[in-house]
Amino acid sequence: MSIDEARSAIVRGEIRPLELVIALFERIDALEERVGAYVSLTRENALSRARQAEDDLKQNAGKALTGIPLAIKDNICTEGIKTTCSSKILENFIPPYESSVTQRLKSEGYILIGKTNLDEFAMGSSTENSAFGLTKNPWDFERVPGGSSGGSAAAVASDECIAALGSDTGGSIRQPAAFCGVVGLKPTYGRVSRYGLVAFASSLDQIGPITKNVRDSAILMNIISGHDPYDSTSADMPASDFTSGLGQEIKGLKIGIPKEYFIEGLDKEVENSVKEAIKKLESLGGIPVEISLPHTEYAVAAYYILATSEASSNLARYDGVKYGLRSDGEDLIDMYMRTRDEGFGAEVKRRIILGTYALSSGYYDAYYKKAQQVRTLIKEDFEKAFENVDVIVTPTTPTPAFKIGEKIEDPLQMYLTDIFTLSVNLAGVPGISIPCGFTSRNLPVGLQIIGKHFDEESILKVAYAYEQATDWHKKKPNI
Ligand code: GLN
Repeated sequence: MSIDEARSAIVRGEIRPLELVIALFERIDALEERVGAYVSLTRENALSRARQAEDDLKQNAGKALTGIPLAIKDNICTEGIKTTCSSKILENFIPPYESSVTQRLKSEGYILIGKTNLDEFAMGSSTENSAFGLTKNPWDFERVPGGSSGGSAAAVASDECIAALGSDTGGSIRQPAAFCGVVGLKPTYGRVSRYGLVAFASSLDQIGPITKNVRDSAILMNIISGHDPYDSTSADMPASDFTSGLGQEIKGLKIGIPKEYFIEGLDKEVENSVKEAIKKLESLGGIPVEISLPHTEYAVAAYYILATSEASSNLARYDGVKYGLRSDGEDLIDMYMRTRDEGFGAEVKRRIILGTYALSSGYYDAYYKKAQQVRTLIKEDFEKAFENVDVIVTPTTPTPAFKIGEKIEDPLQMYLTDIFTLSVNLAGVPGISIPCGFTSRNLPVGLQIIGKHFDEESILKVAYAYEQATDWHKKKPNI
């Protein structure tokens, strides 16, 4: 069930929250050994919240999420509930506070089912960088679910939750959503509070929904977005109703097709599905317009300088004193070094080294400053394009889900899987990935729809129109 369906069933009395939660845990118990979506399950907590929901429902119809079980990526702090970032360094970290997004979900009555697996500190594209085991793609257990929000995407795709939250620094919501055949939205930078999201690259990170359909994405956006005094980068904008555009016509809407996204290395079957999707949008009244985003080819290089620079700074706080793991050492410095050596995995260390290098004096101007300048050019590319078009449509990923182990030895190959999603974070604009077909091996393909700053409404409108005209989102993995 989607959030929308489950809420209606609950309100009509067709299903009770407790039954829903029990049914979900039965599903999890049957599948989790094969899928591996969760780092931890919050069974007792979920059962007691479900009982609470039933009491509330005796008084009134409840709130937007009363009785709805959701999964939360394990880099989003939940008070009193372990939040590990899939890292040994935070293996036993229990946050003393609640993130703003989960606080908002709580105020609407949601039920936390469990915390989902990710690449350590959200650094990766396959969830293989987790310190706590692999998550498998529900469409093919030999393949990765994408990353870093692979646990959330796999949990949604396998019906091990109703919907989930992920975080996206360079594609970590959209890419796993594409690989798992679900809907993933990266909001405009500043739209959703990052308070309580463990920072990876603060100028790029955003939390967003991973859902079974577009309406659920809008429903969750209505709850999690909005100004937050605890996050100085959260935008003070009037509240939006993200469901308001759903069902509106897209006739006359200009759809930009950037030529830089249909390049060598793009899988033929992915390309065909995306081109078919563009035709479908055209048949719904959209007007395709070829556009250019000329600095696209520099996005991967700029992103991996900026993201690693910010990460090296953000991760300095894990020193064995303030959080989590502390290893024994002969003196203070030795303790720091051992803690960080034992606590961080290989990819995290690689990024700390890269970022520290890019920020060091003598190299700062050549790397960090240059990357910031390129970032501005990329942002301007989007601004120019949006003078002529309403939304931009691209493939979400160059290939469908790849095999477990296929890229893990080659970081550069892994970094290239984000080639179509990174620019969106660098520019700060919103993007959504929705299912738009399957390959001959029955692997899902994702369509990315990108919007102007703070224009989630348009991308949701186009996504919904496409979804209503197709049934890719109804297909389920045979597990
Ligand atoms: N795969 C990208 C990276 O490794 C993006 C990760 C993310 O969005 N958190 O940095």
